[in-house]
Amino acid sequence: VFAHVAQGPEDPILGVTVAYNKDPSPVKVNLGVGAYRTEEGKPLVLNVVRKAEQMLVNDPSRVKEYLPITGLADFNKLSAKLIFGADSPAIQENRVATVQCLSGTGSLRVGGEFLARHYHERTIYIPLPTWGNHPKVFTLAGLSVKTYRYYDPATRGLNFQGLIEDLGAAPSGAIVLLHACAHNPTGVDPTPEQWEQIRQLIRSKGLLPFFDSAYQGFASGSLDADAQSVRIFVADGGELLTAQSYAKNMGLYGERVGALSIVCRSADVAVRVESQLKLVIRPMYSNPPIHGASIVATILKDRETYNEWTIELKAMADRIISMRHQLFDALKARGTPGDWSHIIKQIGMFTFTGLNSQQVAFMTKDFHIYMTSDGRISMAGLSSKTVPHLADAIHAAVTT
Ligand code: PMP
Repeated sequence: VFAHVAQGPEDPILGVTVAYNKDPSPVKVNLGVGAYRTEEGKPLVLNVVRKAEQMLVNDPSRVKEYLPITGLADFNKLSAKLIFGADSPAIQENRVATVQCLSGTGSLRVGGEFLARHYHERTIYIPLPTWGNHPKVFTLAGLSVKTYRYYDPATRGLNFQGLIEDLGAAPSGAIVLLHACAHNPTGVDPTPEQWEQIRQLIRSKGLLPFFDSAYQGFASGSLDADAQSVRIFVADGGELLTAQSYAKNMGLYGERVGALSIVCRSADVAVRVESQLKLVIRPMYSNPPIHGASIVATILKDRETYNEWTIELKAMADRIISMRHQLFDALKARGTPGDWSHIIKQIGMFTFTGLNSQQVAFMTKDFHIYMTSDGRISMAGLSSKTVPHLADAIHAAVTT
């Protein structure tokens, strides 16, 4: 009965790792998936995560019972505080409904399903370009996906004019997906002044902001600075949604730990919103997993472990920034034609190199460099040892 089933395509991002794994070359480098690697090219488990896990293992009161549909209560409270700030009026007024979800993706999906059921406008505007999973997640959640201009290939920076025009032309009430910081794949974020203009436009048109926060702490190394975009929208008292992921900033990728928060106008509305989120979640996966959320809650609730985390997070962010400088310098040293200053201007995990799909294919074939065909490279996958090889590959790609 399944003989007619066609072979599905590989995921454009995760498929890069599949191809990488098949390549026997000793010089191969995987710059596809956005996963942090050490200078030695190894995955990193933060010391503070190991410590929290040890504390959990040694605590005999810890059991493996089901969590509530909404997840671990402590985790939810601490996650809201992390993104909105401890003194956020929305938190103090109990206007936030937070549910633990399956990392960032699950939070986006639950948020999308909730909106499709309970919000009057079904259209969501996503930036062009954006993380490749966004259109799929929201379409399958029941929303209609449209794009707004975001990136300008000519400047390799923000197309602010285009963004303002497109959001200005969106129907009143439309949902707008915003990357809270470290936009993926471009590494291009609005300035604080531009964020303020975006906020004014969104509020004046009654658009609904939905923030995707997958990189808090990774852009600048500061958790507060990277949450500013979200916080200016909370400060004006209006509604918004936020999907948080701990995949990158705590290195908890495979634990699938994240949170969806919906900021409402009143505590009363937040209670009803939460009750409806439960109805979305229960038939999808019943309740979320306990381990990752317990790690996060253990780290966030204790000042000492929290501080340790911020130091380790900053070290990851700093190593990525150092990779940017090393790659830029290596291209300069080779006299590679073109302006590569965007490598040091863009922020977060990725550089949107401007290399086209033919150049990428050439680099994969001749240099065993694996990256997505849109020219995005994960700076977190680079090390001082692999920078020269990548610079040689880029140089060859643009000069042959
Ligand atoms: N949003 C963006 C912009 C991302 O880059 C990612 C991870 N690549 C996610 C969401 C979700 O990741 P996860 O589900 O692993 O938390």
